[in-house]
Amino acid sequence: MIKRRSWAEPWKIKMVEHLRMTTREERLKAIEAAGYNTFLLKSEDVYIDLLTDSGTNAMSDRQWAGLMIGDEAYAGSRNFFHLDDTVREYYAYKHMVPTHQGRGAEHILSQILIKKGDFIPGNMYFTTTRLHQELAGGTFVDVIVDEAHDTESEFPFKGNVDLKKLENLIHKVGAENIPYICIATTVNMAGGQPISLENIKALRKIADQHGISVVHDMTRVAENAWFIKEREAGYADKSVREIVHEICSLTDHATMSAKKDPLVNIGGFLATNDEDVFRKAQNLVVIYEGLHTYGGMAGRDMEALAIGIKESLHDDHIQARVGQTQYLGNKLLEYGIPIVKPIGSHGVFIDAKKFLPHLSQDVFPAQTLAAEIYIEAGVRTMERGIISAGRNKATGDHNRPKLELVRITLPRRVYTQAHIDVTAESIADVYARRESIKGLRFTYEPEYLRFFQARFEPLEPGKA
Ligand SMILES: *Cc1c(COP(=O)(O)O)cnc(C)c1O
Repeated sequence: MIKRRSWAEPWKIKMVEHLRMTTREERLKAIEAAGYNTFLLKSEDVYIDLLTDSGTNAMSDRQWAGLMIGDEAYAGSRNFFHLDDTVREYYAYKHMVPTHQGRGAEHILSQILIKKGDFIPGNMYFTTTRLHQELAGGTFVDVIVDEAHDTESEFPFKGNVDLKKLENLIHKVGAENIPYICIATTVNMAGGQPISLENIKALRKIADQHGISVVHDMTRVAENAWFIKEREAGYADKSVREIVHEICSLTDHATMSAKKDPLVNIGGFLATNDEDVFRKAQNLVVIYEGLHTYGGMAGRDMEALAIGIKESLHDDHIQARVGQTQYLGNKLLEYGIPIVKPIGSHGVFIDAKKFLPHLSQDVFPAQTLAAEIYIEAGVRTMERGIISAGRNKATGDHNRPKLELVRITLPRRVYTQAHIDVTAESIADVYARRESIKGLRFTYEPEYLRFFQARFEPLEPGKA
């Protein structure tokens, strides 16, 4: 890696996409029409779109060139073999089955590994991951360290598994009812917090003692590797690529949403070292996604993905990627805005309970704040709190997560430092008028993953 004075990007801009600027009146109309849910806004009505880092990556000239050598054969596309080789070389898994995106891989792996009544420990839930575990008959159990639930804790590895919690669960329900431990690298729902290699090695040992396998949600593994390089003793001189290889080598199976780390707009895969799981996955993918050599992706998409994986593992790229996120987080801290610390990899998470302390969780502070940030400046963020957490299957009540957050997520290689400045300035303006914000109530609540399509109205007409 070449030393630079700041996190400046190792690329320059070759093509631009125009954005539409709106007035406050237009934005008020737009958010009302969207039921105060930023997921239901038209992207045309958004100026700076920080809803998600999923599928919003800017591809490189090499990736765009890759699209032109797409081999759209139904079976055995050459781009499949390029992707297959890349996954083996960079991520160390023996076998790969492409899927249309991450949840396609989660669905198939859950169906293969989970039987009814099983328990699946994990370092905090993720929405689609947990849902697929439940649909397969399993119950998710959160075994992340307590620090992950504390927005003030500066613990460097808030994505770690609490090994005591894991051992207690094994003791309580029996190893035979735990098909696997699921670890996510940089834990999305904890604010983009990393897991340490020390922790992965320790839980690998426990898993081996009990004959339990380890599934790796590797959606943001490169970002996790960067934090290991920066924070974990013994890794400062290792490259991100080497650290990623080591993480993957310690796990048995993996699911990847290629819309994140690997710098493409769509795609995913399932990877495994187990022949039997591989054969079953190849069989199931035909039913739900497509033939096992494309799994829902076009040949050209697999080519862009293979190239994107290699680009995503350059230290310079990851330094700029995480550097931009740190820049935004530090700006917000300068304005006194309560955010999750340490600042994560893919986004900055505002603590909505602290931002709006006068609102109870039942009037959805984070959902409300996301709507207000949009009204302020056309910046789109999203809720990660009580709405995302859904309802308890048994009691019907809301799950009440400790964390009530607004996620400001940064697409990779898309926005400039000035866009980041505007974002921080407009959130500071909302903060200045926070006491006038009142909260929302449901007007429509979908059954599954309700945060995507739920609709709301303001408790007091005319304001969120
Ligand atoms: C996005 C994501 C998924 C699901 O992937 P999709 O491509 O959106 O289906 C799974 N796990 C994590 C941690 C994610 O961020």
